[in-house]
Amino acid sequence: MTTLSHLECSRCHKRYDPGQVLNLCECGGPLLVRYDLDKARQNWSREWLMRAPSTMWRYAPVLPVSKPEAMISLGEGFTPLVRTKRLGAQLGCSQLWVKDEGLNPTGSFKARGLSCAISMCVELGVRKVAVPSAGNAAGAMAAYAAAAGLEAHIFMPRDVPQSNYIECKSFGAKVTLVDGLISDCGRIVGERKQAEGWFEVSTLKEPYRIEGKKTMGYEVAEQFRWELPDVIFYPTGGGVGLIGMWKAFEEMEALGWISSKRPKMIAVQVEGCRPVVRAYEQGKDVSEFWQNAHTVASGLRVPKPLGDFLILDAVRKSAGCAIAVSDDDMMTAGVQLATAEGMFVAPEGAACVAALRQLLQNGFLKPDERIVIYNTGSGLKYLEAYSTRFPRYGGTDGDKLGGLITPR
Ligand SMILES: *Cc1c(COP(=O)(O)O)cnc(C)c1O
Ligand SMILES: [Zn+2]
Repeated sequence: MTTLSHLECSRCHKRYDPGQVLNLCECGGPLLVRYDLDKARQNWSREWLMRAPSTMWRYAPVLPVSKPEAMISLGEGFTPLVRTKRLGAQLGCSQLWVKDEGLNPTGSFKARGLSCAISMCVELGVRKVAVPSAGNAAGAMAAYAAAAGLEAHIFMPRDVPQSNYIECKSFGAKVTLVDGLISDCGRIVGERKQAEGWFEVSTLKEPYRIEGKKTMGYEVAEQFRWELPDVIFYPTGGGVGLIGMWKAFEEMEALGWISSKRPKMIAVQVEGCRPVVRAYEQGKDVSEFWQNAHTVASGLRVPKPLGDFLILDAVRKSAGCAIAVSDDDMMTAGVQLATAEGMFVAPEGAACVAALRQLLQNGFLKPDERIVIYNTGSGLKYLEAYSTRFPRYGGTDGDKLGGLITPR
């Protein structure tokens, strides 16, 4: 079971005891969960994993839940790492893998974070949860809240993918659409939560979602037999997956499971919303609010990530970079990956393919590096975005193969 020790502010390093319901530190910094890794090192080993469940809960000693009955699992994590040789050959690299998070419950890696966060709500006695979301976090929160029997309140921009709206309603959540951005949704939750008695589960404003997300880092190490790849591409909205994996690598080194070698962390954004890329290029430690954010990759429409300083730190320490691609290149890359490999990925995952193409072309990466792309969600959740590529019955090419045929 868990080796949870305390919570620590990522800015001022103030410590907090576990067992209480917490959001941010007094100073406004995100709280990170710390474990007694010496204890974990003594009582837990990599061999133990052979008998562990095939979900992210296989890493339970470094997850915060202490009561097994509080664990709310729908089978999240332990997703496939698919070797993508044909796509690699097309792009000019010989060792390419896609970690397919689209196979998680609710079709995105958000399931990992919310399985962990909602389990902690159950453990700590929280009954009502609320979240502002660009889409997939809402779906995952609604699902896990339903599984746990909690009341879920969701605030989403009105133009979220249809799939996200419908799944949340199906899971019985209270859904409010907002004529604005995720930042507006966040403000509304912040204003109402106290009066309504809601616990806010926004990423990094709540300490446990990142713990679920970090398991992507444990898994890639385990799947590569404890030798990390050379490069990791991560589609960066709030950047919590990237920060979480970076934390996981530190923990695994302390456990004696991996060496100090780290992959180059590549933070991928889109041209219509690239606060982290701009800060990276300007040599700044924090980002500035991105005005008029727009992209069909709803998970990347985050104008000012709360953990920007942690993302930039990991990217720089790892000798990686931050890079933006256009929506057009992203969608083209999504179709290319699907055609080459049989994987229908979210636009966010597709953005990484477009970014990889650029970094191979400009020589930032070498053709023989071991590269992993995180596909964070399923393409099936983004039918509106993909349907602009494939208008049905478009044009006048009926009556021929590939078009529309009218039977006689
Ligand atoms: C939320 C989301 C992202 C961004 O995740 P962060 O870890 O917050 O950067 C990327 N892709 C998809 C599909 C998402 O739902
Ligand atoms: Zn603090």
